[in-house]
Amino acid sequence: FDVSCAPILAQQKRLQGIVVVFHDITELKKLEKMRKDFVANVSHELKTPVTSLIGFTETLLDGAMDDSELKTKFLNIILNESKRLQSLIQDLLELSKIEQEHFTIKWQSVSLKDIVEETLIILKEKANQKSIILEVLPSSNGLALGDPYRIQQMIINLVTNAIAYTPSGGHVWIQVKDKGNDYIELMVKDTGIGISEDQIPRIFERFYRVDKGRSRNQGGTGLGLAIVKHLVEAHNGRIDVSSEIGKGTTFAITFNKAKEKGDVIH
Ligand code: ADP
Repeated sequence: FDVSCAPILAQQKRLQGIVVVFHDITELKKLEKMRKDFVANVSHELKTPVTSLIGFTETLLDGAMDDSELKTKFLNIILNESKRLQSLIQDLLELSKIEQEHFTIKWQSVSLKDIVEETLIILKEKANQKSIILEVLPSSNGLALGDPYRIQQMIINLVTNAIAYTPSGGHVWIQVKDKGNDYIELMVKDTGIGISEDQIPRIFERFYRVDKGRSRNQGGTGLGLAIVKHLVEAHNGRIDVSSEIGKGTTFAITFNKAKEKGDVIH
């Protein structure tokens, strides 16, 4: 609590009473702590790849360059760390854009199935590299109210995770399901490592990872689901997760239905 006092004075400045104001600053303190934690996390996340970039470059300059095998190995590490830095910066910029108060959705009525099919072209490649079968299950042609670019971003983040946290030879399915008069659902299901029940509420926090090492190996930034959560909220939608360790995970985003195709809602 923040406390301030003021005297109440009667005639001839005689003290008649005191006004004490208690100001509840719990929420403010919480916000301040979140801001500080975020800055600390960003600094740490940026520092790790930069340290390794400097280290490997110095080693190359100190003579490792003469060994052609070592040179290729170190240059590949430098390339991967640079890519990690690039993803992190991209995700940070994206999150900061989405979190701005005046961030708005460009409302349209869109076919989720069409967006899924367009997005799949980008994602198939990632799945193939890991020998994961990526399939669209029979889907509804129903229309959702939303921003196609943002919906594509949500699909990319969820499917990229599904591929990252599923061992080779596994399956990832996407499906659009009609949910009655008002809602339409986008589901992403995998046969991956799963998430324990106590971790599920935390995975949407910025930089939270169940397994840091595994996330880093997959090139994860720890921001993908935080971005998805914000985008779902901006769409007035909801996101549900169900998971079983060793069996797989299902994410489902519920959108509001749109009435007609193509119209832009202001
Ligand atoms: P990251 O870049 O680490 O993947 P995200 O914000 O996208 O960050 O996800 C946060 C964490 O949630 C991940 O590090 C991972 O532990 C867990 N996670 C997300 N999606 C899945 C999934 N499909 N299966 C298992 N774990 C997942």
